[in-house]
Amino acid sequence: SISTVGFPMEVGHLDLDQDDHEYDHDRLMVFGRGFFDGSLSVDPADLHRASVDFGGQATPPKLMAVLRPGSVNDVVKLVKAAYESRSGFPVSARGHGHSTDGQARPYSSAPGIVIEMSNYNNKNVMTSTMKPPNVVIDGGDHRGSYVDVWGGELWIEVLKASLEHGLAPKSWTDYLYLSVGGTLSNGGISGQAFNHGPQIANVHELDVVTGKGELLTCSEEQNTDLFHGVLGGLGQFGIITRARIALEPAPQRVRWIRVLYSNFHDFTKDQEYLISLHGKPNSERFDYVEGFVIVDEGLINNWRSSFFSSPRNPIKFTSFGVNNGGVIYSLEITRNYDESNSHAVDQEVEALLKKLNYIPSSVFTTDLPYMDFLDRVHKAELKLRSKGLWEVPHPWLNLFVPKSRIADFDIGVFKGILGNKTSGPILIYPMNKNKWDHRDSVVTPDEEVFYLVALLRSALDSGDETQSLEYLNNQNRRILNFCDEAGIKVKQYLPHHSTEDEWKGHFGEINWERFVKRKVEYDPRRILATGQRIFAPQF
Ligand code: FAD
Repeated sequence: SISTVGFPMEVGHLDLDQDDHEYDHDRLMVFGRGFFDGSLSVDPADLHRASVDFGGQATPPKLMAVLRPGSVNDVVKLVKAAYESRSGFPVSARGHGHSTDGQARPYSSAPGIVIEMSNYNNKNVMTSTMKPPNVVIDGGDHRGSYVDVWGGELWIEVLKASLEHGLAPKSWTDYLYLSVGGTLSNGGISGQAFNHGPQIANVHELDVVTGKGELLTCSEEQNTDLFHGVLGGLGQFGIITRARIALEPAPQRVRWIRVLYSNFHDFTKDQEYLISLHGKPNSERFDYVEGFVIVDEGLINNWRSSFFSSPRNPIKFTSFGVNNGGVIYSLEITRNYDESNSHAVDQEVEALLKKLNYIPSSVFTTDLPYMDFLDRVHKAELKLRSKGLWEVPHPWLNLFVPKSRIADFDIGVFKGILGNKTSGPILIYPMNKNKWDHRDSVVTPDEEVFYLVALLRSALDSGDETQSLEYLNNQNRRILNFCDEAGIKVKQYLPHHSTEDEWKGHFGEINWERFVKRKVEYDPRRILATGQRIFAPQF
Protein backbone atom coordinates (compact mmCIF):
# COMPACT_ATOMS: atom_id res chain seq x y z
CA SER A 1 0.00 0.00 0.00
CA ILE A 2 2.49 2.56 -1.12
CA SER A 3 0.81 5.87 -1.14
CA THR A 4 3.67 8.11 -2.02
CA VAL A 5 4.38 9.62 -5.37
CA GLY A 6 8.11 9.56 -4.71
CA PHE A 7 8.42 5.81 -4.23
CA PRO A 8 8.42 3.33 -7.10
CA MET A 9 5.19 1.37 -7.01
CA GLU A 10 6.76 -1.69 -8.59
CA VAL A 11 8.93 -2.62 -5.60
CA GLY A 12 5.68 -2.87 -3.72
CA HIS A 13 4.66 -3.69 -0.18
CA LEU A 14 6.51 -0.98 1.65
CA ASP A 15 3.91 0.62 3.80
CA LEU A 16 5.31 3.87 5.05
CA ASP A 17 1.93 4.91 6.32
CA GLN A 18 1.31 2.25 8.90
CA ASP A 19 -0.19 3.69 12.02
CA ASP A 20 1.80 1.59 14.41
CA HIS A 21 5.03 2.76 12.80
CA GLU A 22 6.45 -0.72 12.80
CA TYR A 23 8.22 -1.06 9.50
CA ASP A 24 9.14 -4.19 7.70
CA HIS A 25 12.87 -4.06 7.48
CA ASP A 26 13.23 -6.75 4.83
CA ARG A 27 10.94 -4.91 2.47
CA LEU A 28 12.73 -1.68 3.21
CA MET A 29 15.97 -3.32 2.12
CA VAL A 30 14.43 -4.52 -1.14
CA PHE A 31 13.00 -1.11 -1.71
CA GLY A 32 16.32 0.54 -0.99
CA ARG A 33 18.28 -1.67 -3.33
CA GLY A 34 16.21 -0.89 -6.35
CA PHE A 35 15.60 2.72 -5.66
CA PHE A 36 18.77 4.45 -4.51
CA ASP A 37 22.22 4.88 -6.05
CA GLY A 38 23.56 4.38 -2.54
CA SER A 39 22.19 1.97 0.02
CA LEU A 40 19.50 1.86 2.63
CA SER A 41 20.52 -0.12 5.68
CA VAL A 42 18.51 -1.61 8.49
CA ASP A 43 21.48 -3.42 10.00
CA PRO A 44 21.16 -2.92 13.78
CA ALA A 45 24.83 -1.90 13.99
CA ASP A 46 24.28 0.83 11.39
CA LEU A 47 21.09 1.99 13.09
CA HIS A 48 22.89 2.19 16.40
CA ARG A 49 25.85 4.08 14.99
CA ALA A 50 23.55 6.61 13.32
CA SER A 51 21.58 7.24 16.47
CA VAL A 52 24.37 8.00 18.95
CA ASP A 53 26.34 11.23 19.07
CA PHE A 54 29.36 12.85 20.70
CA GLY A 55 27.20 14.02 23.60
CA GLY A 56 26.44 10.42 24.48
CA GLN A 57 23.63 11.53 26.75
CA ALA A 58 20.08 10.93 25.61
CA THR A 59 18.66 7.49 24.91
CA PRO A 60 18.95 6.88 21.17
CA PRO A 61 15.60 6.76 19.34
CA LYS A 62 14.38 3.84 17.29
CA LEU A 63 15.31 4.35 13.66
CA MET A 64 13.62 2.97 10.57
CA ALA A 65 16.71 2.92 8.38
CA VAL A 66 19.95 4.64 7.47
CA LEU A 67 20.48 5.95 3.96
CA ARG A 68 24.01 6.17 2.64
CA PRO A 69 23.39 8.38 -0.34
CA GLY A 70 25.21 7.54 -3.56
CA SER A 71 24.11 10.76 -5.23
CA VAL A 72 22.38 14.05 -4.55
CA ASN A 73 19.36 12.50 -6.20
CA ASP A 74 19.14 9.96 -3.37
CA VAL A 75 18.69 12.78 -0.88
CA VAL A 76 16.02 14.33 -3.10
CA LYS A 77 14.18 11.01 -3.48
CA LEU A 78 14.12 10.22 0.21
CA VAL A 79 13.01 13.66 1.37
CA LYS A 80 10.39 13.81 -1.37
CA ALA A 81 9.07 10.43 -0.28
CA ALA A 82 8.85 11.56 3.33
CA TYR A 83 7.11 14.76 2.30
CA GLU A 84 4.62 13.12 -0.01
CA SER A 85 3.93 10.06 2.13
CA ARG A 86 0.40 10.15 3.56
CA SER A 87 1.45 10.12 7.19
CA GLY A 88 5.03 11.35 6.74
CA PHE A 89 8.19 10.31 8.54
CA PRO A 90 11.12 12.32 9.85
CA VAL A 91 14.41 12.56 7.98
CA SER A 92 17.61 13.78 9.60
CA ALA A 93 20.85 14.59 7.86
CA ARG A 94 23.73 13.39 9.98
CA GLY A 95 27.14 14.89 9.40
CA HIS A 96 29.81 13.48 11.68
CA GLY A 97 27.42 13.15 14.62
CA HIS A 98 29.37 15.57 16.82
CA SER A 99 26.29 17.17 18.28
CA THR A 100 25.90 16.80 22.01
CA ASP A 101 22.12 16.67 22.46
CA GLY A 102 20.79 14.32 19.78
CA GLN A 103 20.33 17.07 17.16
CA ALA A 104 21.40 14.86 14.24
CA ARG A 105 18.84 12.11 14.75
CA PRO A 106 15.08 12.06 14.34
CA TYR A 107 12.99 12.91 17.36
CA SER A 108 9.36 11.97 16.92
CA SER A 109 6.87 9.27 17.78
CA ALA A 110 7.41 7.75 14.32
CA PRO A 111 10.79 6.16 13.63
CA GLY A 112 12.69 8.14 11.07
CA ILE A 113 15.46 7.74 8.54
CA VAL A 114 18.95 9.14 8.99
CA ILE A 115 20.88 10.24 5.93
CA GLU A 116 24.53 9.59 6.64
CA MET A 117 26.07 12.56 4.87
CA SER A 118 29.60 11.89 6.14
CA ASN A 119 29.93 8.32 5.17
CA TYR A 120 33.41 7.37 6.28
CA ASN A 121 34.88 3.94 6.74
CA ASN A 122 37.41 3.02 9.42
CA LYS A 123 40.26 4.52 7.46
CA ASN A 124 38.44 7.81 7.22
CA VAL A 125 37.84 7.39 3.51
CA MET A 126 34.54 8.54 2.07
CA THR A 127 32.81 5.31 1.08
CA SER A 128 30.09 6.76 -1.06
CA THR A 129 30.52 7.90 -4.63
CA MET A 130 30.51 11.57 -3.67
CA LYS A 131 32.85 13.83 -5.55
CA PRO A 132 35.94 14.98 -3.67
CA PRO A 133 36.39 18.73 -3.02
CA ASN A 134 36.85 20.66 -6.25
CA VAL A 135 39.16 23.65 -5.93
CA VAL A 136 38.70 26.48 -8.42
CA ILE A 137 41.59 28.92 -8.53
CA ASP A 138 40.53 32.49 -9.11
CA GLY A 139 36.95 31.79 -10.17
CA GLY A 140 36.85 34.85 -12.38
CA ASP A 141 34.61 37.14 -10.38
CA HIS A 142 35.50 39.38 -7.46
CA ARG A 143 35.22 36.45 -5.06
CA GLY A 144 38.47 34.82 -6.13
CA SER A 145 39.30 31.19 -5.40
CA TYR A 146 36.83 28.78 -3.88
CA VAL A 147 36.20 25.11 -3.27
CA ASP A 148 32.99 23.21 -4.02
CA VAL A 149 32.40 20.42 -1.52
CA TRP A 150 29.82 17.74 -0.75
CA GLY A 151 27.73 18.73 2.31
CA GLY A 152 28.96 15.74 4.29
CA GLU A 153 32.63 16.41 3.62
CA LEU A 154 34.80 16.83 6.69
CA TRP A 155 36.70 20.07 7.09
CA ILE A 156 39.98 18.16 7.38
CA GLU A 157 39.45 16.92 3.81
CA VAL A 158 38.52 20.40 2.62
CA LEU A 159 41.77 21.66 4.11
CA LYS A 160 43.89 18.90 2.58
CA ALA A 161 42.39 19.41 -0.90
CA SER A 162 42.80 23.20 -0.72
CA LEU A 163 46.39 23.01 0.53
CA GLU A 164 47.34 21.04 -2.58
CA HIS A 165 46.73 24.30 -4.43
CA GLY A 166 48.41 26.47 -1.79
CA LEU A 167 44.99 27.69 -0.62
CA ALA A 168 42.83 27.28 2.47
CA PRO A 169 39.43 28.36 3.83
CA LYS A 170 39.57 31.53 5.93
CA SER A 171 37.44 30.72 8.94
CA TRP A 172 37.66 27.57 11.02
CA THR A 173 36.43 25.53 13.91
CA ASP A 174 38.99 24.35 16.47
CA TYR A 175 38.42 20.76 15.42
CA LEU A 176 38.33 19.62 11.79
CA TYR A 177 36.59 16.24 11.98
CA LEU A 178 33.23 17.96 11.64
CA SER A 179 31.16 18.09 8.46
CA VAL A 180 30.68 21.17 6.34
CA GLY A 181 26.88 20.79 6.52
CA GLY A 182 27.02 20.32 10.30
CA THR A 183 29.05 23.45 11.10
CA LEU A 184 27.26 25.61 8.50
CA SER A 185 23.99 24.64 10.17
CA ASN A 186 25.31 26.23 13.36
CA GLY A 187 27.83 28.95 12.50
CA GLY A 188 31.33 27.53 12.69
CA ILE A 189 33.60 29.60 14.91
CA SER A 190 37.17 29.75 16.08
CA GLY A 191 39.84 32.35 16.75
CA GLN A 192 39.66 33.68 13.16
CA ALA A 193 35.99 34.74 13.50
CA PHE A 194 36.85 38.23 14.82
CA ASN A 195 38.50 38.98 11.49
CA HIS A 196 36.74 36.83 8.88
CA GLY A 197 33.42 36.21 10.60
CA PRO A 198 32.10 32.70 11.27
CA GLN A 199 32.30 29.99 8.62
CA ILE A 200 28.78 30.89 7.48
CA ALA A 201 30.10 34.32 6.47
CA ASN A 202 32.56 32.69 4.09
CA VAL A 203 30.21 30.70 1.86
CA HIS A 204 29.30 31.85 -1.65
CA GLU A 205 26.69 29.32 -2.66
CA LEU A 206 24.83 26.23 -1.50
CA ASP A 207 22.84 23.40 -3.04
CA VAL A 208 20.01 22.55 -0.69
CA VAL A 209 17.33 19.85 -0.67
CA THR A 210 14.34 21.46 1.03
CA GLY A 211 11.78 19.65 3.14
CA LYS A 212 9.64 19.36 0.03
CA GLY A 213 12.33 17.40 -1.76
CA GLU A 214 13.29 20.23 -4.12
CA LEU A 215 16.95 20.67 -5.00
CA LEU A 216 17.70 24.40 -5.11
CA THR A 217 20.89 26.36 -5.62
CA CYS A 218 20.98 29.40 -3.38
CA SER A 219 23.33 32.31 -2.89
CA GLU A 220 23.34 36.05 -2.40
CA GLU A 221 21.91 36.31 -5.92
CA GLN A 222 19.35 33.49 -6.11
CA ASN A 223 16.98 32.02 -3.53
CA THR A 224 18.52 34.48 -1.11
CA ASP A 225 16.08 33.88 1.73
CA LEU A 226 16.77 30.14 1.65
CA PHE A 227 20.53 30.81 1.54
CA HIS A 228 20.48 32.92 4.69
CA GLY A 229 17.89 30.69 6.32
CA VAL A 230 20.05 27.58 5.95
CA LEU A 231 23.20 29.33 7.26
CA GLY A 232 22.99 28.76 11.00
CA GLY A 233 19.52 27.28 10.41
CA LEU A 234 20.00 24.16 12.58
CA GLY A 235 19.09 21.95 9.62
CA GLN A 236 15.48 23.20 9.67
CA PHE A 237 15.04 24.36 6.09
CA GLY A 238 16.98 21.94 3.97
CA ILE A 239 19.86 19.53 3.62
CA ILE A 240 23.06 21.08 2.32
CA THR A 241 24.41 18.85 -0.43
CA ARG A 242 27.04 21.25 -1.80
CA ALA A 243 28.77 24.30 -0.39
CA ARG A 244 31.02 26.75 -2.22
CA ILE A 245 33.57 27.99 0.29
CA ALA A 246 35.82 31.01 -0.09
CA LEU A 247 39.58 30.34 -0.12
CA GLU A 248 42.64 32.48 0.51
CA PRO A 249 46.36 31.82 0.00
CA ALA A 250 47.42 29.44 2.77
CA PRO A 251 50.25 30.52 5.05
CA GLN A 252 53.06 28.02 5.55
CA ARG A 253 53.69 28.39 9.23
CA VAL A 254 52.14 29.60 12.45
CA ARG A 255 53.71 31.28 15.46
CA TRP A 256 51.51 30.20 18.36
CA ILE A 257 51.70 32.12 21.62
CA ARG A 258 50.08 31.89 25.01
CA VAL A 259 50.34 34.38 27.84
CA LEU A 260 48.75 34.32 31.28
CA TYR A 261 46.68 36.81 33.27
CA SER A 262 45.52 36.80 36.83
CA ASN A 263 43.33 39.83 36.33
CA PHE A 264 40.15 39.30 34.32
CA HIS A 265 39.81 42.95 33.42
CA ASP A 266 43.31 43.07 31.91
CA PHE A 267 42.63 39.82 30.06
CA THR A 268 39.37 40.93 28.43
CA LYS A 269 40.69 44.43 27.73
CA ASP A 270 43.56 42.90 25.76
CA GLN A 271 41.32 40.43 23.94
CA GLU A 272 38.96 43.24 22.97
CA TYR A 273 41.87 45.38 21.83
CA LEU A 274 43.20 42.56 19.66
CA ILE A 275 39.86 41.92 17.94
CA SER A 276 39.44 45.66 17.32
CA LEU A 277 42.39 45.30 14.91
CA HIS A 278 40.26 43.29 12.45
CA GLY A 279 40.72 44.41 8.88
CA LYS A 280 44.22 45.80 9.52
CA PRO A 281 47.12 44.47 7.43
CA ASN A 282 48.45 41.10 8.65
CA SER A 283 51.58 42.68 10.01
CA GLU A 284 49.54 44.82 12.44
CA ARG A 285 47.26 42.21 13.98
CA PHE A 286 47.16 38.58 15.01
CA ASP A 287 45.38 36.03 12.82
CA TYR A 288 43.69 34.17 15.60
CA VAL A 289 42.54 35.28 19.06
CA GLU A 290 41.18 32.85 21.61
CA GLY A 291 41.64 32.28 25.30
CA PHE A 292 40.75 29.99 28.12
CA VAL A 293 39.98 29.93 31.79
CA ILE A 294 41.81 27.71 34.22
CA VAL A 295 40.12 27.27 37.57
CA ASP A 296 42.28 24.47 38.84
CA GLU A 297 45.75 23.12 38.39
CA GLY A 298 44.29 19.89 37.11
CA LEU A 299 45.29 20.88 33.61
CA ILE A 300 45.81 17.25 32.75
CA ASN A 301 42.16 17.09 31.88
CA ASN A 302 42.54 20.05 29.60
CA TRP A 303 43.01 19.37 25.89
CA ARG A 304 45.32 22.27 25.63
CA SER A 305 47.47 21.43 28.64
CA SER A 306 50.35 19.82 26.78
CA PHE A 307 51.26 23.22 25.42
CA PHE A 308 52.23 24.29 28.90
CA SER A 309 53.47 21.15 30.50
CA SER A 310 53.40 17.41 30.50
CA PRO A 311 51.43 15.43 33.07
CA ARG A 312 54.74 14.34 34.58
CA ASN A 313 56.01 17.84 34.77
CA PRO A 314 53.02 20.01 35.64
CA ILE A 315 53.42 23.70 35.57
CA LYS A 316 53.05 25.54 38.87
CA PHE A 317 51.12 28.71 38.32
CA THR A 318 52.26 30.03 41.66
CA SER A 319 55.66 30.40 40.03
CA PHE A 320 54.16 33.33 38.10
CA GLY A 321 52.94 34.92 41.29
CA VAL A 322 49.41 33.81 40.47
CA ASN A 323 47.29 33.49 43.53
CA ASN A 324 43.87 34.57 42.52
CA GLY A 325 41.41 32.28 44.17
CA GLY A 326 42.59 29.63 41.75
CA VAL A 327 41.35 31.35 38.57
CA ILE A 328 43.75 32.36 35.82
CA TYR A 329 43.22 33.23 32.18
CA SER A 330 45.28 32.38 29.16
CA LEU A 331 45.26 34.46 26.00
CA GLU A 332 46.01 32.39 22.91
CA ILE A 333 47.11 34.15 19.73
CA THR A 334 48.75 33.20 16.47
CA ARG A 335 50.53 34.90 13.61
CA ASN A 336 50.56 33.18 10.23
CA TYR A 337 53.58 33.59 8.01
CA ASP A 338 55.54 32.27 5.04
CA GLU A 339 59.23 31.52 4.75
CA SER A 340 59.47 34.67 2.60
CA ASN A 341 58.47 37.02 5.43
CA SER A 342 59.75 35.01 8.39
CA HIS A 343 62.42 37.60 9.14
CA ALA A 344 59.74 40.19 10.07
CA VAL A 345 57.62 37.93 12.26
CA ASP A 346 59.64 38.21 15.47
CA GLN A 347 59.57 41.98 15.38
CA GLU A 348 55.90 42.28 14.47
CA VAL A 349 54.82 39.84 17.16
CA GLU A 350 57.04 41.60 19.69
CA ALA A 351 55.49 44.98 18.81
CA LEU A 352 51.97 43.63 19.33
CA LEU A 353 52.83 41.82 22.57
CA LYS A 354 54.25 45.04 23.98
CA LYS A 355 50.78 46.54 23.92
CA LEU A 356 49.39 43.79 26.15
CA ASN A 357 49.23 43.62 29.89
CA TYR A 358 49.90 39.96 30.71
CA ILE A 359 52.11 38.53 33.46
CA PRO A 360 55.54 39.35 32.02
CA SER A 361 57.22 36.02 32.71
CA SER A 362 54.37 33.97 31.28
CA VAL A 363 55.01 33.88 27.53
CA PHE A 364 54.86 30.42 25.93
CA THR A 365 55.69 30.20 22.25
CA THR A 366 55.77 27.46 19.69
CA ASP A 367 56.06 27.38 15.92
CA LEU A 368 54.54 24.83 13.57
CA PRO A 369 53.20 24.19 10.05
CA TYR A 370 49.75 25.70 9.31
CA MET A 371 48.18 22.26 8.89
CA ASP A 372 49.46 21.11 12.29
CA PHE A 373 48.06 24.19 13.98
CA LEU A 374 44.60 23.82 12.43
CA ASP A 375 44.51 20.11 13.21
CA ARG A 376 45.72 20.55 16.81
CA VAL A 377 42.64 19.19 18.59
CA HIS A 378 42.81 15.92 16.66
CA LYS A 379 46.14 15.18 18.37
CA ALA A 380 44.46 15.67 21.72
CA GLU A 381 41.62 13.43 20.54
CA LEU A 382 44.04 10.60 19.78
CA LYS A 383 45.55 10.89 23.25
CA LEU A 384 42.17 10.91 24.95
CA ARG A 385 41.02 7.97 22.83
CA SER A 386 44.04 5.95 23.87
CA LYS A 387 43.03 6.48 27.50
CA GLY A 388 39.36 5.69 26.87
CA LEU A 389 38.46 9.29 27.65
CA TRP A 390 36.97 10.34 24.29
CA GLU A 391 33.83 8.25 24.10
CA VAL A 392 32.35 9.49 27.36
CA PRO A 393 29.27 11.71 27.84
CA HIS A 394 29.87 15.37 26.98
CA PRO A 395 27.44 17.73 28.70
CA TRP A 396 28.71 20.78 26.83
CA LEU A 397 27.40 24.29 27.27
CA ASN A 398 28.29 27.01 24.75
CA LEU A 399 27.16 30.55 25.43
CA PHE A 400 27.45 33.87 23.66
CA VAL A 401 27.82 36.44 26.45
CA PRO A 402 27.45 40.18 25.76
CA LYS A 403 30.62 42.16 26.40
CA SER A 404 28.89 44.48 28.87
CA ARG A 405 28.23 41.56 31.27
CA ILE A 406 31.29 39.36 30.82
CA ALA A 407 32.80 40.61 34.09
CA ASP A 408 29.62 39.63 35.96
CA PHE A 409 29.79 36.24 34.28
CA ASP A 410 33.38 35.87 35.50
CA ILE A 411 32.42 36.57 39.10
CA GLY A 412 29.27 34.46 39.07
CA VAL A 413 30.50 31.47 37.06
CA PHE A 414 34.29 31.19 36.77
CA LYS A 415 34.91 32.41 40.30
CA GLY A 416 31.59 31.16 41.65
CA ILE A 417 29.53 28.25 40.37
CA LEU A 418 32.44 26.27 38.91
CA GLY A 419 34.17 25.80 42.26
CA ASN A 420 37.67 24.54 41.67
CA LYS A 421 37.05 21.88 39.09
CA THR A 422 36.19 22.24 35.43
CA SER A 423 36.20 18.68 34.02
CA GLY A 424 37.36 19.98 30.66
CA PRO A 425 38.56 23.08 28.83
CA ILE A 426 36.73 26.38 29.14
CA LEU A 427 37.23 28.60 26.14
CA ILE A 428 36.57 32.32 26.13
CA TYR A 429 37.06 34.73 23.26
CA PRO A 430 35.32 37.79 21.85
CA MET A 431 33.95 38.34 18.37
CA ASN A 432 32.70 41.32 16.37
CA LYS A 433 28.99 41.25 15.60
CA ASN A 434 29.49 43.22 12.40
CA LYS A 435 31.14 40.11 10.91
CA TRP A 436 27.86 38.20 11.28
CA ASP A 437 25.10 38.63 8.69
CA HIS A 438 21.83 39.43 10.46
CA ARG A 439 19.91 37.72 7.65
CA ASP A 440 21.40 34.35 8.64
CA SER A 441 19.35 32.22 11.04
CA VAL A 442 21.88 32.11 13.89
CA VAL A 443 21.25 34.55 16.73
CA THR A 444 23.88 36.44 18.71
CA PRO A 445 23.60 38.95 21.60
CA ASP A 446 22.49 42.45 20.87
CA GLU A 447 25.91 44.08 21.34
CA GLU A 448 28.72 44.92 18.99
CA VAL A 449 31.15 42.66 20.82
CA PHE A 450 30.19 39.38 22.43
CA TYR A 451 32.14 36.48 23.88
CA LEU A 452 31.97 32.79 23.27
CA VAL A 453 32.21 30.93 26.57
CA ALA A 454 32.49 27.22 25.85
CA LEU A 455 32.35 24.81 28.79
CA LEU A 456 33.59 21.66 27.07
CA ARG A 457 33.27 19.10 29.81
CA SER A 458 33.56 15.34 29.94
CA ALA A 459 31.55 13.33 32.45
CA LEU A 460 33.45 10.48 34.07
CA ASP A 461 32.32 7.55 36.08
CA SER A 462 35.25 7.95 38.44
CA GLY A 463 33.44 7.87 41.74
CA ASP A 464 34.10 11.59 42.11
CA GLU A 465 30.63 13.09 42.27
CA THR A 466 31.77 16.40 40.76
CA GLN A 467 32.70 14.64 37.53
CA SER A 468 29.41 12.84 37.08
CA LEU A 469 27.00 13.59 34.25
CA GLU A 470 24.26 14.51 36.68
CA TYR A 471 26.47 16.96 38.56
CA LEU A 472 27.71 18.66 35.38
CA ASN A 473 24.23 18.90 33.86
CA ASN A 474 23.00 20.36 37.10
CA GLN A 475 25.84 22.86 37.08
CA ASN A 476 24.94 23.87 33.51
CA ARG A 477 21.39 24.55 34.68
CA ARG A 478 22.73 26.63 37.56
CA ILE A 479 24.82 28.69 35.14
CA LEU A 480 21.79 29.35 32.92
CA ASN A 481 19.66 30.23 35.95
CA PHE A 482 22.35 32.54 37.24
CA CYS A 483 22.44 34.39 33.88
CA ASP A 484 18.68 34.60 33.87
CA GLU A 485 18.45 35.98 37.39
CA ALA A 486 21.33 38.39 36.88
CA GLY A 487 19.74 39.63 33.63
CA ILE A 488 22.77 38.57 31.54
CA LYS A 489 21.23 38.15 28.10
CA VAL A 490 23.20 35.15 26.88
CA LYS A 491 22.39 33.20 23.72
CA GLN A 492 23.20 29.54 23.53
CA TYR A 493 25.49 28.55 20.65
CA LEU A 494 24.72 24.98 19.42
CA PRO A 495 21.44 25.63 21.26
CA HIS A 496 19.44 23.07 23.15
CA HIS A 497 15.99 24.03 24.38
CA SER A 498 12.99 21.93 25.33
CA THR A 499 9.93 24.16 24.98
CA GLU A 500 8.57 26.48 22.33
CA ASP A 501 8.75 29.37 24.79
CA GLU A 502 12.45 28.73 25.30
CA TRP A 503 13.02 28.71 21.54
CA LYS A 504 11.05 31.92 21.20
CA GLY A 505 13.20 33.45 23.91
CA HIS A 506 16.32 32.16 22.18
CA PHE A 507 15.46 33.77 18.85
CA GLY A 508 13.67 36.86 20.11
CA GLU A 509 10.30 37.87 18.71
CA ILE A 510 11.32 39.14 15.27
CA ASN A 511 13.81 36.40 14.50
CA TRP A 512 11.39 33.74 15.72
CA GLU A 513 8.70 35.00 13.35
CA ARG A 514 11.19 34.85 10.49
CA PHE A 515 12.32 31.36 11.52
CA VAL A 516 8.74 30.05 11.62
CA LYS A 517 7.95 31.68 8.26
CA ARG A 518 10.95 29.98 6.72
CA LYS A 519 9.89 26.65 8.22
CA VAL A 520 6.42 26.95 6.72
CA GLU A 521 7.94 27.81 3.36
CA TYR A 522 10.75 25.26 3.12
CA ASP A 523 9.73 22.37 5.38
CA PRO A 524 5.96 22.60 5.83
CA ARG A 525 5.57 19.07 7.19
CA ARG A 526 8.40 19.60 9.64
CA ILE A 527 10.19 16.45 8.70
CA LEU A 528 13.77 17.74 8.77
CA ALA A 529 16.17 17.75 11.73
CA THR A 530 13.48 17.01 14.32
CA GLY A 531 16.29 16.20 16.77
CA GLN A 532 16.73 19.94 17.31
CA ARG A 533 13.31 19.80 18.99
CA ILE A 534 12.18 23.14 17.67
CA PHE A 535 9.09 22.07 15.74
CA ALA A 536 6.99 19.00 16.39
CA PRO A 537 6.61 17.06 13.14
CA GLN A 538 3.18 17.16 11.54
CA PHE A 539 2.33 13.50 11.19
P1 FAD B 1 25.98 16.64 13.21
O1 FAD B 1 26.07 16.48 14.69
O2 FAD B 1 26.01 15.41 12.41
O3 FAD B 1 24.67 17.51 12.84
C1 FAD B 1 24.40 18.73 13.50
C2 FAD B 1 23.07 19.31 12.99
O4 FAD B 1 23.22 19.70 11.64
C3 FAD B 1 21.92 18.31 13.02
O5 FAD B 1 20.73 18.98 13.29
C4 FAD B 1 21.90 17.76 11.61
O6 FAD B 1 20.64 17.30 11.24
C5 FAD B 1 22.31 18.99 10.81
N1 FAD B 1 23.05 18.64 9.60
C6 FAD B 1 24.11 17.83 9.47
N2 FAD B 1 24.52 17.79 8.19
C7 FAD B 1 23.70 18.62 7.52
C8 FAD B 1 23.60 19.01 6.16
N3 FAD B 1 24.42 18.53 5.22
N4 FAD B 1 22.62 19.87 5.80
C9 FAD B 1 21.77 20.37 6.72
N5 FAD B 1 21.80 20.02 8.01
C10 FAD B 1 22.76 19.16 8.41
N6 FAD B 1 31.80 24.25 16.68
C11 FAD B 1 32.33 25.44 16.37
O7 FAD B 1 31.66 26.31 15.83
N7 FAD B 1 33.65 25.71 16.66
C12 FAD B 1 34.47 24.78 17.21
O8 FAD B 1 35.64 25.05 17.44
C13 FAD B 1 33.94 23.50 17.50
N8 FAD B 1 34.72 22.53 18.01
C14 FAD B 1 34.18 21.31 18.27
C15 FAD B 1 35.01 20.29 18.76
C16 FAD B 1 34.52 19.04 19.02
C17 FAD B 1 35.42 17.98 19.55
C18 FAD B 1 33.13 18.80 18.82
C19 FAD B 1 32.55 17.47 19.16
C20 FAD B 1 32.29 19.79 18.34
C21 FAD B 1 32.81 21.06 18.06
N9 FAD B 1 32.01 22.07 17.55
C22 FAD B 1 32.57 23.29 17.24
C23 FAD B 1 30.57 21.90 17.38
C24 FAD B 1 30.23 21.46 15.98
O9 FAD B 1 30.45 22.51 15.05
C25 FAD B 1 28.77 21.08 15.86
O10 FAD B 1 28.43 20.12 16.82
C26 FAD B 1 28.48 20.54 14.46
O11 FAD B 1 27.11 20.39 14.29
C27 FAD B 1 29.16 19.22 14.29
O12 FAD B 1 29.18 18.84 12.95
P2 FAD B 1 28.69 17.39 12.57
O13 FAD B 1 29.04 17.21 11.15
O14 FAD B 1 29.18 16.38 13.51
O15 FAD B 1 27.12 17.65 12.72
